[in-house]
Formats: sequence, structure tokens, C-alpha cells
Amino acid sequence: MEDLEIVPMRAKDLDEVMQIERRCFSNPWSRAFFSQQQRSRSFENFLARREDGSKRMILGYICLLPVRRKVHILNIAVHPEFRRKRIATRLINFSLDHCLARGIREAVLEVRRSNRQAQEMYKKLGFKEVGIEKAYYSDNQEDAIKMHREIAPRPKFIADAMLGKLARWLRILGYDTVYFSDKGDENLIRIAQEEGRIVLTRDTRLIKRLVPDSYFFVHDNNHWKQLQEVHQGLELKVDPRFLLSRCLVCNAEIERVAKDSVGETVPEYVFKTQEKFYSCPICQRIYWGATHRTNILEVIGHILGAKGLR
Ligand SMILES: [Zn+2]
Repeated sequence: MEDLEIVPMRAKDLDEVMQIERRCFSNPWSRAFFSQQQRSRSFENFLARREDGSKRMILGYICLLPVRRKVHILNIAVHPEFRRKRIATRLINFSLDHCLARGIREAVLEVRRSNRQAQEMYKKLGFKEVGIEKAYYSDNQEDAIKMHREIAPRPKFIADAMLGKLARWLRILGYDTVYFSDKGDENLIRIAQEEGRIVLTRDTRLIKRLVPDSYFFVHDNNHWKQLQEVHQGLELKVDPRFLLSRCLVCNAEIERVAKDSVGETVPEYVFKTQEKFYSCPICQRIYWGATHRTNILEVIGHILGAKGLR
């Protein structure tokens, strides 16, 4: 469902939310409880909605309670007529990204023992069963399965000497990627272990020395195909917030700098037409944006099928 947007829940949404809540649950939350959450700053509720002609329609929502470095997913519901369209998955992934950006590193939730379908979905999203809460649900004394997952930060990579172009494109996508042009396997393995980097390699000899999940074996010769392989194999998501956020030469995160400070270092035309400039803290290269970004988005759309990004 392409035209779905996820936005914070507002008081005016509660009529529609309550209709879904009553249809989804045998012991629905009360309207008063939702209102109370809306007023409290402790809770964060989001909803998925879609434009339907001139009318907006709510298709699902999620209610979160972040407590320090952990988020409790308290409630998640999808309109009964819009099930199996990955709306719950989108709501959860959105929430985890949102929490990650705020430094939250763990997510927990409870699910009814009889709700196998939901448990399967959570497992696919990386949640693991960690315990049982006896007679947790007051309406029928049903047990709750407690589930947990870590909210991993974005993966970091170390690419071997044969994968220079792939490394460059991962940096363009904003992934922290060391390009290891050296030949020594020893050092590559040491850096990967010390810095928690996934080894990207085409070397069958090297992978014999690595434990599963610590490397990704790249099959293709062509760097576009390689990018597709890594993108699919590691289920990466193109996140526009991270695009072009790193120096393509030294991998450092680039920093916004004042326009006045770059006058001497960029072509006159660029200075006249661009407003935002960034600089690499290591090599001091200056980066600027708009046209380059449009081209890259086009390429990414074409290669990775990530359309509609801005
Ligand atoms: Zn640099």
C-alpha cells in the first residue's frame, strides 16, 4: 500500500480509532483511556492513514510507552478490512526507527497465547519469546506471551579490496563502511570484530575464517548487482535521512557548515546556486546537495526499486 502515511494520533482521530478498537478486541480500551494517553506526554501513539478520495481514512494504529531505553508496545490494531497488507509491520518498523532515533534500544510487548498469527508476525520482525505472564488478560484469564527484541542500530560494514565501488555506494546510502584495500586478512578480521562490522567479501577463503552472521558473501562481479545482493540479503532499507551523510572518500559523517565559510573552496556557480554545504571533518572536502541528490535517488530507485524518496 503505497499511499499510506504514518502520523501522530490526535484527539480528533479518536472516534475513528475507537471504531477500529471495538472491532479488533474483545476487551477494547476505553475512549477515556485513549484520551488520557493523548494528554500524557509519556505515551506516543501513531496511526497509519490513507487518502481515500477527499477523505482520510485510518487503517491502523500503534500505542507506545517509552521508558528510558526501552519501549513498550502497548497496543497495535489494524482495521479488519485492511488486514494482510503489512500495515502492522509498517507501524512497528516506523515505531522502532522512531525509537532508535531517540536512543531507545529495546522493545517489549505482550500477545495473547491464542493469537498465533500475531506471534508469527512479531517473530518475523525479530521479536523473541522471553516468558509467559499467567492469566494476564482480565476478560478470559488468558496467558500473555512476552516478547522482546533489540532495536539494532544500522549495520556497519567492512568491504574487502575487491568491493570498492560497492563500499562507495553503501556510503552514499549512509552506511558506515570501511573499505579495506589492504590485502591482509588478519587486520580485516580484527577491525570487523573490534568495531562490530559485517565483512563484505567475495573471498571464499576468507569466509572460512569467519563465523556465520559476521559476513556477507557477495557473488556478483558487477557493483550494481552487488548492491542489490547486499540490499536484499541483509534486508536494508533506504532511508532518505541518511543519504549522502558520509564522506565518500573517508567514510566520516559530514557536518553542515556555514555558506560563508566555503566561498573560496567551491566553484563560483555552485556557490551562487546552492545554499546548504557540508564538510568532512577528516579530509575537509566540501559537499553540496540538491542536483546530486536527485541523480542518486534516480539511480537508487532504478537499482533498488526504492521509489518515491525525496
Ligand atoms: Zn573525507
